[in-house]
Amino acid sequence: MTYLVIGIVPLLFFSFNTTKTLQDYFEDTNEREVLYQANTIAGNIQKTGYLTDKTKQPQLAQDIEQRGIEENCRIIVVDERGYAVADTNGMVVGRMFIVPEILVALAGRDEANLRREEEAIYASAYIESADSRKIGAVLVISSFSEVYQLIGEITNQWLLVTLFILIIVISLVIFMSQMIFGPIKNVLDTIRRISAGQLHQRIEIKGKNEFTELGEAVNTMTKRLEEVDQSRQEFVSNVSHELKTPLSSIKVLSESLLLQENVPEEMYKEFLQDITSEVDRMTDIVSDLLALVRNDPSEARITVADVDINKMLRDIVKRLSPLAADKDIDLSFHAAKDVTLKGDEVKLSLAISNLVDNGIKYTPDGGSVSVSLDADNKDCFITVQDSGIGIAEDEQSKVFDRFYRVDKTRDRETGGTGLGLAITHSVIMLHNGSVQIISGEDKGSTFIVRIPLERKEV
Ligand code: ADP
Repeated sequence: MTYLVIGIVPLLFFSFNTTKTLQDYFEDTNEREVLYQANTIAGNIQKTGYLTDKTKQPQLAQDIEQRGIEENCRIIVVDERGYAVADTNGMVVGRMFIVPEILVALAGRDEANLRREEEAIYASAYIESADSRKIGAVLVISSFSEVYQLIGEITNQWLLVTLFILIIVISLVIFMSQMIFGPIKNVLDTIRRISAGQLHQRIEIKGKNEFTELGEAVNTMTKRLEEVDQSRQEFVSNVSHELKTPLSSIKVLSESLLLQENVPEEMYKEFLQDITSEVDRMTDIVSDLLALVRNDPSEARITVADVDINKMLRDIVKRLSPLAADKDIDLSFHAAKDVTLKGDEVKLSLAISNLVDNGIKYTPDGGSVSVSLDADNKDCFITVQDSGIGIAEDEQSKVFDRFYRVDKTRDRETGGTGLGLAITHSVIMLHNGSVQIISGEDKGSTFIVRIPLERKEV
């Protein structure tokens, strides 16, 4: 509708204006012309004395007839009382002929009027005697219908052009609504269904243009939403499952103690020890979960300060070196630069510790884990490289998921919760950084963490 109005209204306005101006112009010039004719004829009659000299009146009739034919108009001459002396039509001669223009002329004023209903211009001029008396008047009636016809034709032409443009605009609008609004509506409908919870909805993609790109973006977003939704459900069931396992062991252990008579003290001790280690495991899981929740960007409380990364990494290596020593793993640290960045030291330290801890956990005895630090003018790069079992390519995108473990049974023995890398990832995201894995099965793993030196608040 807007396009229609924008396209048509100015055109109609323009065509109306042009015809109106043209009509005004024609009316004006024609009125003046006819008035000029009336004046000339009146002057002529005055000069020749046709009116005062009755014998000259046939000559007057002839003269006027001639002029009427030349100018294609009707000419009537009346005397001072309003009786017609001559008429190119011959219809009113000898009779009283009074029209407003004649009255005005007899009163001493020339006048021209357009009579629209008759489509004619009436122009009158008075005739004076030698002593300046008004002795008669000339009325010239000139048809205006030709001009009206012309204007009508011009208007028709304009209407034709308008109609033509209207058709073009309408076709364009239809074309556009199909080309533009159609796809947008399609995308909108799908988004509405997605908002209503139908996450499996996808936008049908045909061809390749901006709209299909939009559709693809929405599809990617929906796929991601679906994954998030799925991972949330998985998360809840995983949490329940992970907590249930130690809980049922505790139940079994305590029940067997309760049901048995005269339990020896050693057995009590042994079972209670098992119970304690299950409780420890649950505590680990719960504290990891808490750490994760605290890193949720919507709730994270981040304490930003200058962090001496060299010192932080040295501390981590020092703290974990007993673990490495247990497995005879060579744990080393190398810094190419001194780096200080704006961040949350506690969270960052936890994130990198998890990486080093994993390096040690997933490297067989006698291997090596190296931590290195470098920076450019924008970012700091922390690399944790191990010579361990590596991560297959198709697993690499999943290891940051909560509770994800590459080989669940194998890892149960190492005692991980599957939350370590999820925590690391969330901390890095909180610092607007990124983490990259370079690895392959049995090829060792390299985790490269990039963190901007300056913190941009978003
Ligand atoms: P976990 O507590 O099981 O270590 P993480 O979230 O830290 O949980 O790691 C997820 C999974 O990624 C691990 O179970 C392991 O299979 C794999 N993984 C992590 N780090 C390494 C590594 N350095 N080498 C090989 N596999 C690794």
